[in-house]
Amino acid sequence: MSATAAEHDRFSYAEPAKVTQTALSLDLKVDFDKRELAGSAELALAWHDPEARELVLDTRDLSIEGVEALDAQGAAHALKWSLAARDPVLGSALRIALDAQAPKVRIRYHTAPQASGLQWMTPAQTAGKKQPFMYSQSQSIHARSWVPLQDTPAVRFPYSAHVTGPKALRVVMSANNDAKHPLDGDFSFRMDEPIPSYLLAIAVGDLAVRETGPRSAVYAEPSVVAKAAYEFADTEKMIETTEKLYGPYRWGRYDILVLPPSFPFGGMENPRLTFATPTVLVGDRSLVALVAHELAHSWSGNLVTNASWRHMWLNEGFTTYVENRIVEAVYGKVQADEEFIIAADELLREVKATPAPTQRLVPDLDDADDAASDFAYVKGAWLLRTLEARFGREAFDVYLRGYFDHFAFQSITTQQMLDYLKPNLLDKYPGKMSLDEVKAWIHQGGVPADAPLPTSPQLQAIAAARSQWLEGKRTAIKLDAKHWNTQEWMYFLDGLPDKLSAKQLADLDAAWHLNGSPNAEIARRWYLAAARADFRPARTQMAKYMTRIGRRYLVVPIYEELAKTPDGLRFAREVYAKAKPGYHPMTQASVEKALAGQ
Ligand SMILES: [Zn+2]
Repeated sequence: MSATAAEHDRFSYAEPAKVTQTALSLDLKVDFDKRELAGSAELALAWHDPEARELVLDTRDLSIEGVEALDAQGAAHALKWSLAARDPVLGSALRIALDAQAPKVRIRYHTAPQASGLQWMTPAQTAGKKQPFMYSQSQSIHARSWVPLQDTPAVRFPYSAHVTGPKALRVVMSANNDAKHPLDGDFSFRMDEPIPSYLLAIAVGDLAVRETGPRSAVYAEPSVVAKAAYEFADTEKMIETTEKLYGPYRWGRYDILVLPPSFPFGGMENPRLTFATPTVLVGDRSLVALVAHELAHSWSGNLVTNASWRHMWLNEGFTTYVENRIVEAVYGKVQADEEFIIAADELLREVKATPAPTQRLVPDLDDADDAASDFAYVKGAWLLRTLEARFGREAFDVYLRGYFDHFAFQSITTQQMLDYLKPNLLDKYPGKMSLDEVKAWIHQGGVPADAPLPTSPQLQAIAAARSQWLEGKRTAIKLDAKHWNTQEWMYFLDGLPDKLSAKQLADLDAAWHLNGSPNAEIARRWYLAAARADFRPARTQMAKYMTRIGRRYLVVPIYEELAKTPDGLRFAREVYAKAKPGYHPMTQASVEKALAGQ
């Protein structure tokens, strides 16, 4: 095991100091009628504590049917086990008693229909309307709802899987997918690199495939696949760019699976097969920073992994930084700067609205799912931009490439990151930035006042036009917005004051047709502004948007905004009643929290 397991992961019952899983082998049947995965998980074990006679695994809502030990010859004998009471955050510890330290255990089990890491969709909830669809989302601690295992990012293991399901559907995993595999309901997979549990992923549905490069393809429902292949056509360019900066792509293929609109996240960096929301398919490739982000995780996150969810900024801050470097190299500095300024502005608004302890890069967490904050992503990236600015791009690029090589296939803590940073960057070029300064970024709230921010003449011009419109010196039609790109519209809408009049919003919509915008990012901001101003003419389209899409980032803030007034709350509840069946369990939980909080 790695030295990193020394810091206890409070979101797992596992005891990796005593024993670790060194390989996982799954044999599962996909049953859409019962909404369950059923079969077995076989764990290979490395025992570290000679006294240990118990294996503790993480589970959530799993039905355990039996546990057996397998000896070196593969002979099985039944083991005693018990399932602890369910903790609302952690699930239930599965305690397996052994009389000797077996090299392997096998657990027979099936999942629950409400498994927090799986979404089961009816044909009506898909684009094609003919076949059901199922997909997993294991990050951060949801793998345990479909596989009994040590569900902590501190432990890494290769895996294999045999999965049977309905004929005519395709099964894909975060492993070696074969685009030419016959749709015979019988699939086998291998992931030979050691990965943490949160990167276990599976999806089953009516999936077509389209190549986008020599080592990349998109998987999507047949009616979506051509659009997705067009949008993601620059994937190979992005891979080559990142390899030039940070060394070889180590995972073989980089495919993208486009999920139904209910997918709760923008993207999930499942190795070899990124899962992505269809809400970035705009038709003009203006939101493909999402692919840059998920691809960047092939280095920051999947290769060098946070040892526990408190340290998530090691995954997301590094990735957000690398994402912006990829966008700059492929789409130019103007777009990269615009994207960072938009993200930084959002972060600075968050700083005002968030208690200081939550703003630290290594916060105390009540739930592992709370780790994914703007602070982990944008403040983390901003720290790396600061290091780049202080040490110069050339030196920092060399440093970062060395960091990825040094910690490749390891799970690390912030302390380990600092222990490597000091001799390899800070002390190497003395006087540029001290360890104390770096620690202040990590352990204090807010963002230091001298944090470097790019300037964008385009965005400055838009801010000036916006002010004139707000002051009534320009009508909306005179905003000169015809050639604004997606990011420029996002920036314009982000900077609107809290309260606009219905007349102002009507003026804006009449000129630029924001209501019903097919661009999900622009629409999000428009509906937020409409909800704040209680602009009723937007409600029909707003409800459609919130019902069609289940991506939390896009819909949850609108619910939160609506919930601030009694009438808005009534409307939000009405929309949710219709939208709920199409939402992922994680989105349901977030919306219910937003609606109950008032
Ligand atoms: Zn990410």
